[in-house]
Order: sequence, then structure tokens, then C-alpha cells
Amino acid sequence: MARGALGEEEPNRMGVYLGPVCRLCRREGEKLYLKGDRCYSAKCSVEKRKYPPGQHGQNQRKIGEYGVQLREKQKLRRIYGVLETQFQNYFHEAERRRGLTGENLLQLLEVRLDNVIYRMGLGRSRREARQLVSHGHISVNGRRVTIASMLVKPGTRIEVTASGKDLPQVRLLGHSAGGRKVPEWMSFDEKNVAASILSMPSRDQIDTDVREQLVVEFYSR
Ligand code: SF4
Repeated sequence: MARGALGEEEPNRMGVYLGPVCRLCRREGEKLYLKGDRCYSAKCSVEKRKYPPGQHGQNQRKIGEYGVQLREKQKLRRIYGVLETQFQNYFHEAERRRGLTGENLLQLLEVRLDNVIYRMGLGRSRREARQLVSHGHISVNGRRVTIASMLVKPGTRIEVTASGKDLPQVRLLGHSAGGRKVPEWMSFDEKNVAASILSMPSRDQIDTDVREQLVVEFYSR
């Protein structure tokens, strides 16, 4: 796998990271919940090996201020499964908007269609939720959509298409890994496997465990 100057795992030429996702958690030193059920079991790699991956993983030096900010940025990017360029675009958009840049950034990530599907309880991970979108099993305001990065707004209705309703990721609804709950900023119609966006999520409605101010500081250097 290709590595960047900072020892980071890099995407392939298609811009997709195809490496083992548990490695990303181990790099950040904490669970990012990228694999669904396994993340909640004793098989979780972070539980088994509490040190970064690689040959020198067990001989890590203390990291400075820049390193702390970098790690927080990488952690947030990896939780939502967004590549660097797109993440930077979100950051610039977050800066442009009114309010706190860090909160705006989280809000933008949160209203991505793949994340909304994940928040509805569909798919065991955001990656699986993204597949539901890219494979054409989701419709937005009555039209089939395959763009996982689409940003939804209040008033948007998201539904699973007829073909998608038989998929195990959808039938498992309500038994999702970690028992995640549908957030308050959307209403959920379990019978029709559909959701409506009620408002943009506020910071206290986003349970992502990240210090977004460090991400802002990282890009403000
Ligand atoms: Fe991360 Fe889940 Fe793998 Fe654990 S099992 S290392 S939380 S992706």
C-alpha cells in the first residue's frame, strides 16, 4: 500500500482507500467504528493491539501540537470516509458559512447522504450505507440517487427503493451494531423505511467524538 510523507495510508489512483480499515483505527489509537458488528466485539483490532500499525508502531515518540491537530483531522476524515481533497472543500465551505467553522464542518459531514442513511440505522457501517446509495437503492424526494456525497437539506425525504427493502442491511434495521439511535434532526418512518430531514443538526445532536477546534487549528496554520 502506498504511504505518504507522514506515513499515512493513501488512496489509490482512483482516489479510493482500499486498505484494511482497522489499520486506520489503530493509526488513530481509538475505535472509529468503521466495520459494524466487529467493532463492538472482542475481535476489534484496537482492543487486541493497542499500538499503531507498522514496524515501528510500538516505538512511537510523543507527538507535538501539530501532530495532535493532524491526528484529529485524520480521525474526523476517516470516521466519515472522506478523502483529503473533498475534506478540504468541506472545510472551506464551513469557513465561508456563518457561525463556528468547526461546527459547520461537522454539520456538512453529517448531512452527506451516506451518513444520513447510516443514521437511519441502515448498513452496519458508513461504508455499507454508502454502498446502498452507490448501488441505487436510495431515492431522494422520489428520485433515485447514486451520489453518496450529496448534501441533504431540511424538508428532504429519503427512502429505500423497492429493490433495496429486501437487502439484509435494510432488514437488519433496528438491530444495528451498537444500537444506534435515529437522531432528533430527522423523523423516521420505519414501516416505509424512509426519513425526512427536520432541521440541520446542531453540535449537541451530533455524537461524533471529535475535537473539531483542533481540525480548525490544523487548517489555520
Ligand atoms: Fe476500528 Fe471497528 Fe476495526 Fe475495531 S473492528 S479497529 S473499531 S474498524
